[in-house]
Amino acid sequence: MNNNVRVRFAPSPTGPLHIGGVRTALYNYLFARKHNGSCILRIEDTDQTRYVDSAEDYILNSLDWCGIEFDESLRKGGDFGPYHQSERKHLYRRYADKLVEKGHAYYAFDTQQELDVLRSEYESQGKTFIYNQTARKELRNSITLSNDEVQSMLEKGEPYVIRIKIPEDDTVELTDLIRGHISVHTKEMDDKVLYKADGMPTYHLANIVDDHLMEITHVIRGEEWLPSAPLHVLLYKFLDWKAPAFAHLPLLLKPDGAGKLSKRDGDRLGFPVFPLKWKDPKTGEEYMGYRDSGYFPEAFINILAFLGWNPGTEKELYTLDELIKDFSLERVGKSGSRFDPDKARWFNHQYLIRKSDREIAERFMTSLDEKGISANIHFVEKAVSLVKERVNFVREIWDEISFMFIAPTEYDPKVVKKKWKEHTPGLLSELLEQFRQIDPSDFTAENIEEATKDFLAEKDLGMGQIMNAFRLTIVGGNKGPSMFHTAEILGKEEVLKRMEYGINHISRD
Ligand code: GLU
Repeated sequence: MNNNVRVRFAPSPTGPLHIGGVRTALYNYLFARKHNGSCILRIEDTDQTRYVDSAEDYILNSLDWCGIEFDESLRKGGDFGPYHQSERKHLYRRYADKLVEKGHAYYAFDTQQELDVLRSEYESQGKTFIYNQTARKELRNSITLSNDEVQSMLEKGEPYVIRIKIPEDDTVELTDLIRGHISVHTKEMDDKVLYKADGMPTYHLANIVDDHLMEITHVIRGEEWLPSAPLHVLLYKFLDWKAPAFAHLPLLLKPDGAGKLSKRDGDRLGFPVFPLKWKDPKTGEEYMGYRDSGYFPEAFINILAFLGWNPGTEKELYTLDELIKDFSLERVGKSGSRFDPDKARWFNHQYLIRKSDREIAERFMTSLDEKGISANIHFVEKAVSLVKERVNFVREIWDEISFMFIAPTEYDPKVVKKKWKEHTPGLLSELLEQFRQIDPSDFTAENIEEATKDFLAEKDLGMGQIMNAFRLTIVGGNKGPSMFHTAEILGKEEVLKRMEYGINHISRD
């Protein structure tokens, strides 16, 4: 492929970006990078009625967090700007006029009210009103009205929209890079509005004008836009422009496969549907986000990459650079991709265990700070190393090792009942004396284990007869990582202190 590939991600700031949107951005990015092309970010904000103030920042912050970078954008600039459609308003009218001149579009004067009446009349007969090649012949537009009438209405400033004039008996054909050949008869298409009465283009007009002017070569977008593709192909043809190649990505489905993943599924099923948390400015409703739920951006990218694409091998862990190398639209499937929350957590776990103890410790220090606990980074580093394998998220580490930071003063009564026998305090006191013999600098897991084993051998006892009680004094229950390593990290002084405290305070009644 030549190196003039230009793709764009074109979100509308009507709300937060759903993970499906981020996946579209990612696939565009991967495709551009793979072909040494350019990836453009364009904000499609022509629909003023659906504009949400904080949405644009949300979109930009989400893409930043994921590490998806654009070559041209509102922030970065570029030779094809502006990159906000609202700042390109002046560009669109001329193309709508050109379409009218060439007889491919027409003025429609029907008021909203008139159309509403028609819609309800149709509805009462169990039908749906569609402004199409049949209906247009009966309505108030520049096809049915005389030139003079149209002229005078325009002069009087009567409100109108510009609609595409879909040809009567034709077929529109296109080849989608994912779905193959598609053909639609024009009888099935409606005369969509291209230019609105408020002087703004609709999505369809602005989208194709911008894709043309920005020299977009490949339109990679969600399946929900597939029904619009034939209309776009016709518009390119009417304007004598070369249409870009199209690739419509598969839908993201609910975990059970029953329908499209919706913004409510996440909170209902316990996984985020949005990259960052989002508070709806109108309703005040809050939705959780991947970042705020403790996902690493690399894991998030990996999860998204596999929602619709797969490399055809066993390899599942992919860095962004590896994705760029291996990604291809040929390996993107047609059918909807089911979101698997367990797999998402698995991905995060994989990234977590591959990070250094130091990095995990630094992140975990933030949760310690929030709890008002100050700890030494070296100590935390060793403590997290013991439990890294057991968690999917850094925030889960606390539940695993809180005892490292807070000595127990209460003990799990079930464990006490089962494991704290009459002879236990005496036995533990003897073990404590063995530990006391170890030099503080030699208080290593190995030496502690050896001391314990020697002690038990001498008494002719098994591990089970002391280890649970020992753990109870150190941890407060029967959970936790290897006791000897835990003891090493806590250090001799703390271990002896906890053992003594336990011996004096744990009682079966
Ligand atoms: N503005 C549209 C959206 O919000 C863009 C669709 C397209 O990529 O053509 O998804």
